[in-house]
Amino acid sequence: MIWGLEIDGATVAAGRTAPVVDPATGQAFAAAPDASLLETDAAVAAANRAWPGWHVLTHDQRVLIIKRFLKAVEARSGDLATLLTHEQGKPLARSTGEIAGALMFARAFCELKLSDKILRETDTSRIVERLKPLGVVACITAWNFPVMLAMWKIIPALLTGNCVVLKPSPLTPLSSLLLGKIGQGLFPAGVFNVIVGGFECGSRLTSHPDVSKVSFTGSVATGKAIMANAASSLKRLTLERGGNDAAIVREDAPIQATAHGLFWGKFHNCGQLCAAAKRIYIHENIYDAFVAAFVEIAQGVQIGVGTDPTSDIGPLQNQAQFNQIIDMVDDARARGGQILFQGRAPDQGFFHPIVIFGSLPHEAKMLREEAFGPIVALQKVQSDEEAILRANDTGFGLGASVWSTDVEGATAIAERLEAGTSWVNQHPAIDPLTPFGGIKESGLGVEFGEDGLREFTRRHIVNIKTNLQ
Ligand code: NAD
Repeated sequence: MIWGLEIDGATVAAGRTAPVVDPATGQAFAAAPDASLLETDAAVAAANRAWPGWHVLTHDQRVLIIKRFLKAVEARSGDLATLLTHEQGKPLARSTGEIAGALMFARAFCELKLSDKILRETDTSRIVERLKPLGVVACITAWNFPVMLAMWKIIPALLTGNCVVLKPSPLTPLSSLLLGKIGQGLFPAGVFNVIVGGFECGSRLTSHPDVSKVSFTGSVATGKAIMANAASSLKRLTLERGGNDAAIVREDAPIQATAHGLFWGKFHNCGQLCAAAKRIYIHENIYDAFVAAFVEIAQGVQIGVGTDPTSDIGPLQNQAQFNQIIDMVDDARARGGQILFQGRAPDQGFFHPIVIFGSLPHEAKMLREEAFGPIVALQKVQSDEEAILRANDTGFGLGASVWSTDVEGATAIAERLEAGTSWVNQHPAIDPLTPFGGIKESGLGVEFGEDGLREFTRRHIVNIKTNLQ
C-alpha cells in the first residue's frame, strides 16, 4: 500500500517519506510520509476551514457521525491489528485487544454529554456557564499504544466540536494513517486529519498560531518542549507523560495473586506501558516466597514474533528503546545487582529477554529512570513506612499500588502515595468514565470522563441581568 498524508478528506502524497521498521526483524517494511512544514500547515489549514461547519452541528449530530466512524473502524479491525503488530511488535491477540479496548473507550465517551450550567439565578439575574469547543486540536501520540492513544484523544476532541490534526509517532504511523483513511467520506473534509512527522512537524504543530490545544502523550522531555513551544500562543495543554509507578507488597499480601497481578502489571506490552508497575517494594517477611512465585510466572512466558500465536510478549519497539534497556541492565550489573531470572528471546530485531534483578541500590538507573521494557528489580523493604518513603522518592507521579488482604489498611497507604491514581490490589486499571492523569512530572490535566471532555472546551460565562427597566 502507498501511504500518504490524510488531509482535507483525501490521501495526499508527501514530498518526503521515511522507512517504517518492523521491530521483530529490525528491517523496514513500509514507507510512511514525513510531513514538511508546508504539509503540516496544510493540515492545520484544512482543520481550521472545517471548524465553522463542524462546531455548529448539534452534539447528537456529531455523535451520529462518530459512531459511524467507530463502526467502520470495527469493520477494519483485522487490518488494523495486522498493521499494529508489524509496526509496534505486540502479539496479534494484543493488537486485536488494543483495538477492541480503543473502541470500547470511544463508545463510552460518546455516551457523555457536557451541559450548560446555571451558576447563579436570582429574581434579577441569571449566570450561565457554557462549554464551547476550542477550534483546531493537535493530538500527538507515542509508539506504545498507537491506536488506543489516538482514540483517547480524537474522539473527545471531535465530540466536543473541535477539528483534529492527529500526529502519531513516526515509529508507528501506519495504524493512525489507516484511521484517517477510514474517516474519509464519513467526516466532513478537514474535520479529522492525520499527518506523520518527527521533531520538525511536531514543533510546527505545537507552535502553530491556528492550533488552540495540544493533547500529547509521550515522554517527560518532549512534554516540556511542547509546553515551551505552546507558550507563545498560550495554547491549552493536556500532557500525559511518563511514569515510574511503585507497587507496595505488604506482609499480608496473598503471594500467588499478587505475583500474577504485578507480573502482568509490569510486563504487559513488553513493559512499554506508562503506568506499568516499574518499581516493586516487597516486605522482607514474604520476599523470598514472592520472588519464587514471580520467577515461576516468568519461566512460562514466551517472547517471540507477534504473528506467532504462541508469543506472549513481542520485541521492544525501536532501537533507541532497546539501547536504553541494555544500558539499564549494564548499570544494574555494575552496581552489583544479582540476576534472579533471565529469560530467552529471539536473536533478531529488538527482542530483549525478561530480566529480573534482586534488590538494587536505590540510585540504580532502573529505579531512578523509567524502565520502559522487560526488566525489573524486586526491592526488599522492612516496613510499610520504608516502602511509602521509597515509592514517593521520584519526580514521576502517574500511578501507584498497594497489595494486601487488609483492604482498609492498604487504602490508607494508597492515599499517602504521590500519584494521579493509586490502586489497591490491581495495577494498572483504567476506565473510560474515570479521569486519568499524572502529577509531578508525569502530567498536566486528565483524560477520560467528563473532566477529560472538558479539557477540549473553553468556558464561556453569559451573565444576564433580567430586569433592566
Ligand atoms: P516521545 O516523547 O519521544 O514522542 C511522543 C510523540 O511526540 C511522538 O509523536 C513524537 O514524534 C512527538 N514529538 C517529538 N518531539 C516533538 C516536539 N518537539 N514537538 C512535538 N512533538 C514531538 O515519546 P515516545 O518515546 O514515543 O513514547 C514513550 C513515552 O510515552 C514514555 O515515557 C511513556 O511513559 C509515555 N506514555 C505516557 C502515557 C500516559 O498516559 N501518561 C501513555 C503512553 C506512553
